[in-house]
Amino acid sequence: MWNCLSKRKQFKEEPGNAEQRDCEEQEQQESCLPTYLEVDATDSHTNTLPSYDRANFEPVADRAAGVIERTLHMEESVLRELGSTIHQNPELAFREHYAANTLTHFMQGRGWRVERGICGMETAWKATFSRGIGGRTVGFNAEMDALPGIGHACGHNLIAEGALAAALGVAAAMAEMDVSGRVLLLGTPAEERGGGKIRMLRHGAYKSADAMLMIHPGGGAPYKTDLISPMLAIDSFSAEYLGKAAHAALAPHEGINALDAAILAYTNINALRQQTKPYERVHGVIDTAGYSPNVIPAYSCLRYGVRSATLAELVELKRRVVACLRAAADATGCQFVLHDTTPPHPELRHNGLLAVEYAAALMRRFGTHVQLALDVPGGASTDFGAVTYAMPGLHPAYEIYSQEGVSNHTAEFARCTDTPIAHRKTLEAATGVALTAFRVLCDDDFASAVQSEFHGE
Ligand SMILES: [Zn+2]
Ligand SMILES: [Zn+2]
Repeated sequence: MWNCLSKRKQFKEEPGNAEQRDCEEQEQQESCLPTYLEVDATDSHTNTLPSYDRANFEPVADRAAGVIERTLHMEESVLRELGSTIHQNPELAFREHYAANTLTHFMQGRGWRVERGICGMETAWKATFSRGIGGRTVGFNAEMDALPGIGHACGHNLIAEGALAAALGVAAAMAEMDVSGRVLLLGTPAEERGGGKIRMLRHGAYKSADAMLMIHPGGGAPYKTDLISPMLAIDSFSAEYLGKAAHAALAPHEGINALDAAILAYTNINALRQQTKPYERVHGVIDTAGYSPNVIPAYSCLRYGVRSATLAELVELKRRVVACLRAAADATGCQFVLHDTTPPHPELRHNGLLAVEYAAALMRRFGTHVQLALDVPGGASTDFGAVTYAMPGLHPAYEIYSQEGVSNHTAEFARCTDTPIAHRKTLEAATGVALTAFRVLCDDDFASAVQSEFHGE
């Protein structure tokens, strides 16, 4: 899975224009946690990673774990309150003002240096902790946005809670164990639509980080979300059909039916779906398609997302989907206009060594088995994928024990993202990424091996 270096470089150098667009015009960006039903139960691809001495670090890790767990125990009630209040005040992409204000106020109160409204987005922010001279930098992403109509159905309130917890835990361990370096806590808007992290990456917000980590809650059985597996690349776009209105009874022959174009496009794509790869996804809605049954519809609009294992594969899948859309225009005589609505998100590639370290921490501290499936694409996507092209990254999924069969992006899951067990599991996962990040800060051999893996050495 480590053969994507040329694409990584290509993505970093790709000129972006997303920041030039009005945030509010960004279309829905489906993302996040998948159905992991196809994942093999066998942990995979951990034997090809660069080596380092695991056992040598265990006494240090145990001492750090003690500090981190003590810190999170002291902060537990206030962290839960932060996660709860964001849950109770859901905000959509680019409008996460309450969450950004609440979280930055809290971090400022803990003595961190806070910058608000960064990277051209009102709700993007950065909080920094520094200790000593020199050293490395680790960072965590705090997502904040909710979904239209169903609130925090992806648990980004818990992601924010967990990011703050991890950041505070690492800072406490650095202070008590006299480790130099920096902790970067980024408030990242608009994960569900708009690609906030891609904008932040292009503005240099991640520039100083040696590794970036975040956690993501997922549903209960059968989704098996104590899991680390790659996530899919995604591209989102809309298709407009421009027809001609006419009286539907008096002169239908004078019309050009844009609703028919939308229906044909939808069914063309449904037919295509049968011949796509098992891990590929094509999903869309008819957004607008006429207003009155006695008027031939002159306009329709569809919005689609396509996903595949890599950006390269995604190009071909998108070409086939666009061919379906064009065919509908040809059949009906409509004009066809395609709009790219978000920058394409590359697939998410976990750093394998960070993944192994996280899994070991969860087992050692909490007895939780984290399944490593480092070469099996999951069914979801994230704007964090772009970040993992720029530096070593980790994005573990963790289970919050929703009811059986309840997955992310449902109203039922939203009700599960503010429960005592969800908050407890969030702090456990946060402890895992905090310990992993701490090792990057204070173990030269491990940090060097993480970089070697990232650069394919
Ligand atoms: Zn999510
Ligand atoms: Zn989501």
